[in-house]
Amino acid sequence: MFKTHTCGELRVEHVGQTVTLAGWIDRRRDHGALIFLDLRDRFGITQVTVHAEESPEAHEAASQLRVEYVVQVQGQVRRRPPGFENPNLPTGEIEVVAHRVTVLNPSRTPPFYISGSRGDNVDEALRLRYRYLDLRRPRMTHNMVLRHRVVRAIREFLYDRDFLEIETPHLIKSTPEGARDFIVPSRLHPGKFYALPQSPQQLKQLLMVAGMERYFQIARCFRDEDLRADRQPEFTQLDLEMSFVDAADVRAIIEELMIAVSRQVSDKRIQQIPFPVLTYDQALERYGIDRPDLRFGLELFNVSEQMARSPFGVFRNAVAAGGVVKGVRYPGGAGLSRREIDGLAELVKPYGAKGLAWIGLTGGPDAQGHYPLESLRSPIAKFLDPAEIDALVAVSQAEPGDLLLLIADHPHVANPALANLRLEIGRRTGQIDPDLLAFCWVVDFPLLEWDEEEERWQAVHHPFTSAVDEDWDLLETDPARVRAKAYDIVLNGWEIGGGSIRIHRQDQQMRLFRRLGLDEAEVAEKFGHMLEAFQYGAPPHGGIALGIERIVALYAEAQSIREVMAFPKTATGVDLMLDAPSPVDPVQLAELHIQVIAGDPPAHPGTPEARVSDSPGVAPGGP
Ligand code: ASP
Repeated sequence: MFKTHTCGELRVEHVGQTVTLAGWIDRRRDHGALIFLDLRDRFGITQVTVHAEESPEAHEAASQLRVEYVVQVQGQVRRRPPGFENPNLPTGEIEVVAHRVTVLNPSRTPPFYISGSRGDNVDEALRLRYRYLDLRRPRMTHNMVLRHRVVRAIREFLYDRDFLEIETPHLIKSTPEGARDFIVPSRLHPGKFYALPQSPQQLKQLLMVAGMERYFQIARCFRDEDLRADRQPEFTQLDLEMSFVDAADVRAIIEELMIAVSRQVSDKRIQQIPFPVLTYDQALERYGIDRPDLRFGLELFNVSEQMARSPFGVFRNAVAAGGVVKGVRYPGGAGLSRREIDGLAELVKPYGAKGLAWIGLTGGPDAQGHYPLESLRSPIAKFLDPAEIDALVAVSQAEPGDLLLLIADHPHVANPALANLRLEIGRRTGQIDPDLLAFCWVVDFPLLEWDEEEERWQAVHHPFTSAVDEDWDLLETDPARVRAKAYDIVLNGWEIGGGSIRIHRQDQQMRLFRRLGLDEAEVAEKFGHMLEAFQYGAPPHGGIALGIERIVALYAEAQSIREVMAFPKTATGVDLMLDAPSPVDPVQLAELHIQVIAGDPPAHPGTPEARVSDSPGVAPGGP
């Protein structure tokens, strides 16, 4: 055994004991005859003192040490002299007086600081290149431990509730989840390919057909997406499926799970139990987005009706064209400088909003409760009727000193733009309580959406999701109105998971495939195995998948999911440490019957099933 105790373990009750520790040199302070070493391992830091007079050999060894040397220390635990305790360290009341110091391995000077928080601002590329050093940093070690605790809590919760943990293969046939597949050439079957699972979706459904009834897996998923801000080509899900359940049953177990996990790993307070449930329409209307951050209010307001006949053409015309006039209130924002307001207008441009109208309530209402023009600061107020101003103030619940920001446009422009603005206002006005966990469910998603480019209907979730019973009849007549038995779970503005009740009957599955524009031959080729299985007594079933990285990142208050992954890739899918992807030996390629063609690849024909829950460009609500 290299060590009798960890570097985080010793306390005053160990005083007098002879111990052996091993770890890395976190810091070394040389006072001549006395050398202080901070010895670090995963569990903590222990101060070691080495005295020249008492232990000349140990002192000689210690004088050679540099940071990150791996060292074994044998010595006696002693109480630190009064006044020299370190209240910031759990081991801060003791130190180990070394008798022997052994270098187990020296270290080159690391490319960045590992000790304390000094490495926190290091360039991420450098951190990824030397991830094994980066992970030694206390914050990263903490994130790894937290992730482990989350996964462990999930497993224990589900074992207790009769779930079976079953692994499914990675070499499979395409499982569409809205991204491209990573494909793996088969050597034994020239010209044929496996796909890496975008999720175990079809396999978990087949496990339900197999009678497993309650399944889960901490599953790795692979999606070849154009990587946006916080995506990774491979990530981990809690993948779960249950038989003989409806949507409420799945939601109930996940709600219980998230409460249990949160209480085990986090000091943050859960805002509301049971978790609020919003329909998709409500979420868009009130927050402009299907993953609202409910840690604060500032709901959007809608004055389309009141502005339908406005003398102000921008508002009137937007409504006439089927658009909306919606806005968000900026508490106390009436006094913002023109530049600051222009800055807010910049924030909505990426969403295609042509402008941001604004009205500041710089003064108060008159005796009758109306806001005269003198009380308003606005480039547009003079074009509005007094009754319209009254309506605006009433609907937005504005108070003197507030700024109202309005967008007149199509809902698919106005909503995401205002959602982003709302988040920004929430942040700037300090309304977002960082100690809250605000969970909610979003339900009643549309089953299908029209794909302009491909001119056909696409599944919003995935093509195995069932329609709400009473909406099946609309599938052929009014597809846009068909609601899905789908649900997303949202935490602090992040979609942390989604799932659905599945189709379990062959005829219904075929009916949906037809609506998605797939002909019999395509269906047979791609999904024949599912349709066949459904003919052998498939039970009603449904499930969900939760994104482990997002959940851990939220608990850890990490800015990116990369912070909670041991070995993530860069935003362009590169592993800087392993230098992957990389060329392979031509012999290997030949064995696989593969020839690399230089130049741009042909345009991708698109995937038949799209997932739209993340509107492009919408920044995730920061944790
Ligand atoms: N397979 C889905 C996903 O990965 C989740 C589910 O429907 O269970 O998003």
